[in-house]
Amino acid sequence: MDIQLGKIRFIRGDNGGKYPFSHSVYLEGDNTCVVIDPSCGLQQLTELKEKKKVDQVWLSHWHEDHMGFLNLFDKGTLRIAERDFLPLTDLEIFLDWYGIKEEQLRELWKNVMLNNFNYQPQNTAWFLQDDEVIDLGSLRVQVIPTPGHTPGHLSFFFPDEEILFLGDYDLTSFGPWYGDVYSSIEQTIESIHRLKNIPARRWIASHNAGLFEKNPGSLWNDYENVIYQREERILNFLDKPKTLEQILSAWLIYGRPREPKEFFEFNERALAGKHLDYLERHRKIALNQGRYTRVEILKPIK
Ligand SMILES: [Zn+2]
Repeated sequence: MDIQLGKIRFIRGDNGGKYPFSHSVYLEGDNTCVVIDPSCGLQQLTELKEKKKVDQVWLSHWHEDHMGFLNLFDKGTLRIAERDFLPLTDLEIFLDWYGIKEEQLRELWKNVMLNNFNYQPQNTAWFLQDDEVIDLGSLRVQVIPTPGHTPGHLSFFFPDEEILFLGDYDLTSFGPWYGDVYSSIEQTIESIHRLKNIPARRWIASHNAGLFEKNPGSLWNDYENVIYQREERILNFLDKPKTLEQILSAWLIYGRPREPKEFFEFNERALAGKHLDYLERHRKIALNQGRYTRVEILKPIK
């Protein structure tokens, strides 16, 4: 069910806002009307377009589950961070940014993108600037850069209504996603900290629960702690040298094999890969002859 909060409308996504959908937000400024992330569902967005004015479509980031029905709206209305625009211009680049290399998987994803997400290459967009405050007419929005999930991920803060749109820092129990080629664990942590400290009274996440009418409280720490728990499981597993394939077949991120297999195997590899890279850069693990092992820190003798 939609919830109207002054000039801001929370539009609940199909399937409870779970992938391949996400919740959308409609902003009805006196001058300019905006849809954020047109991916809640075909019916809701068709109805919105028929009954209301839509001058601009904003994307929080480049992922397919945030733009499934972008094609309903006129080209030239799109606004996104410049850092996230490239994958929208070309489906090959889109797949490259996910790190999909295998030809068969690329073909599969191309079909999914064209048929399920109505992917159409965009050749123009008006870029949202970090930290700019946009006045839509009796409705002000601050653009909050929150990189990590994607390089150009944006959250939006409505200072007068004290509402914060979190985007994909969605506070779910699964935890954050940072498995793309240009995702970053370090930036994800910084972005969670930034969002947590914004003085809001209501919070909107892109998936699942969606609208938080009171402070998510411990969910903030739980969400961030998922990152450290994933890391700890990997470190514990590397008490003896292990190959990448051994690490992946232990399902340290997802806990157990899931279906559809190709999808989750890819995700496990992507997220575990990011952690291995992070741990290696921080010299907590080392790669020797194709095997990863934990680096033991020697305590000084007193
Ligand atoms: Zn996303």
